Amino acid sequence: MPASAPATIVNVGYQSTNYWVVSAGTSRLLVDLGYPGTMGAMLANLKRMDVPLNEIRYGLATHYHLDHAGLAQELKLAGVPLLVLEPQVPAIPLLKSWMKPRDHYVEITLHDNVTIPLAQSRALLAELGIKGEILATPGHSDDSVSLLLDDGAGFTGDLTHPAFATEQQASTVAASWRLLRDHGATRVYPGHGPIKEMVRDGEGR
Ligand SMILES: [Zn+2]
Repeated sequence: MPASAPATIVNVGYQSTNYWVVSAGTSRLLVDLGYPGTMGAMLANLKRMDVPLNEIRYGLATHYHLDHAGLAQELKLAGVPLLVLEPQVPAIPLLKSWMKPRDHYVEITLHDNVTIPLAQSRALLAELGIKGEILATPGHSDDSVSLLLDDGAGFTGDLTHPAFATEQQASTVAASWRLLRDHGATRVYPGHGPIKEMVRDGEGR
């Protein structure tokens, strides 16, 4: 796999949520990890989009909410290591408090993840042949991160549109969009809804 090949992006999402597969050839990263209790839907969509599970090198949750990290543990048990950024660690145990028994959530264990500081993300992605980095982009939640590829594609999870940020969130949200723009983001691949161009003030529209 030549390191210069551009990453390809496919959406394996369902239930109004986007789950993005970023691939450098057959070396792949799954961005956002499904609702609890939906492993069948995830596996079916991966298959439909020709993404073999054993080619996914890591799963990355943009943040630890049920529609973004609900299958993290089941994916681990199926052989997909969970990539965790250090600022996300405190949020992981809290996820189970959102769950009801009917959700069939499998609790995420902490000892067996690949946990790295944000500053190591570029090197880790480079091992996959993916040029980019992972940035802390709080606002929707304290643990929110974005994957930003060097070609300008930003995977922002639920980072709030500035127009919808509460007064309390507004400065944090604005700073996260500014960080993305300053690091070269030109297109937004959100957790919900269509791909958007970045506009001049840093919003995705
Ligand atoms: Zn969320």
